[in-house]
Amino acid sequence: MRVRVVSGHWAETLVTPSGVRRSVRVTVAEGRIASVQDGVAAQEGDRHLRLVVPGFVNAHSHAFHRELRGRTHGDGGDFWHWRRAMYRLAAAVTPESYGVIARRVFREMVEAGWTAVGEFHYVHHRPGGRPYQPPHAMELALADAARDVGIRLLLLDTCYLAADVDGRPLEPEQRRFGDGDAAGWLVRWQALREAVGDDPLVAVGAAIHSVRAVPLSAIERIVAALPADVPLHLHVAEQPRETAAFLAVHGETPVAALDRLGVLGPRTTLVHGTHLSPEDVARVGAAGATVAFCPTTEADLGDGIGPGKALAAAGARIALGSDGQSVIDPLLEIRGLEAGERLASGRRGRIGPPALLAAGTWHGSTSLGLRPNRFAVGDPADFVELDPGSPRTTGAEPDQLVLTATASDVLTTVVAGRVLHGSGSIRRRAGAGPHDDRVSSDESAR
Ligand SMILES: [Zn+2]
Repeated sequence: MRVRVVSGHWAETLVTPSGVRRSVRVTVAEGRIASVQDGVAAQEGDRHLRLVVPGFVNAHSHAFHRELRGRTHGDGGDFWHWRRAMYRLAAAVTPESYGVIARRVFREMVEAGWTAVGEFHYVHHRPGGRPYQPPHAMELALADAARDVGIRLLLLDTCYLAADVDGRPLEPEQRRFGDGDAAGWLVRWQALREAVGDDPLVAVGAAIHSVRAVPLSAIERIVAALPADVPLHLHVAEQPRETAAFLAVHGETPVAALDRLGVLGPRTTLVHGTHLSPEDVARVGAAGATVAFCPTTEADLGDGIGPGKALAAAGARIALGSDGQSVIDPLLEIRGLEAGERLASGRRGRIGPPALLAAGTWHGSTSLGLRPNRFAVGDPADFVELDPGSPRTTGAEPDQLVLTATASDVLTTVVAGRVLHGSGSIRRRAGAGPHDDRVSSDESAR
């Protein structure tokens, strides 16, 4: 007979985008929330947690960009200049080094409170473009890294066919990204899905690198062929040059073209969306799409400040990603989203703490095709304990803590009920005080 293992977790404070709750006891079985009670005491054996939030979800990552951290700041130039350094790195990675980097980066993400990641992956083949044998060496290196670390992974295998908006062939340094045409990418994508199989932590999603890298006819073909439940991600409007070049060739903006082709919808995530016209904002909102902002990367690369509040007002969801890994900290992405709004508008409180927390958590889940953890029975048991008594967070209102904390305040990260980072404190005996294992927030505040 199979024994159902149930673990108990008790939170002093639970903060979700829906509000603040106190003395919440959660039980977990088979990786999911099995029961939730508010205003109750901890039971013997419960893991005692201070301030709990849903697991942060990283909607946009290129793990290997981590190798550029702290190595391009003296170079000057713009995004396109930075891209040359990134291409030199992309030319050098092997399945072995790719896996080593991903393991390290996914581990850093878990320690920072990210419980799931969407890896936008386009370095598919050997330099020059010859496929690996056995196939999927680069992709399976990512999947293995995620399984080893225990983070949820949506492997967004990315179609990359052309060098620019006019459809010209790939440059030599881009050839290892390419599959020839849409049909070639679809065949490899289907085979990859079968190779990854049914895995509780790892799933395969789809991505179109950008309107620079995939001609419209190929985008149309891909969207028609993908199963309806597969998340689809695309880079859009990170740089004004891309939009201007596309407009010159096609006579419409990239978002207008994507809308016309039926690409935009609830399963679609547009990455960046930094330079959108008001008409494009309305199109994205009306489609109910997600836009993944990557504020620390967009600042690092000098991309600009995207219209987050306008997109949300139009009906889009905003999610957040670490993209280039210049920083791995979900709380700094949350802060960056709001900071950009304030810098652009001269007004405070533009997005507001509950919506900022939703961007960092639930909307990321939706973007990756995952069920958000709303702390309801059956939700994935992915959550994070923050320290409300650290030098950074002491005195903060619980629902405003996401605007004061950093990744250094992440005490515990739990994915599918497994503690991947930290330990929390275990309540040892019935009747013991609530802070028997740890200095209370009041004591540490003094
Ligand atoms: Zn990206």
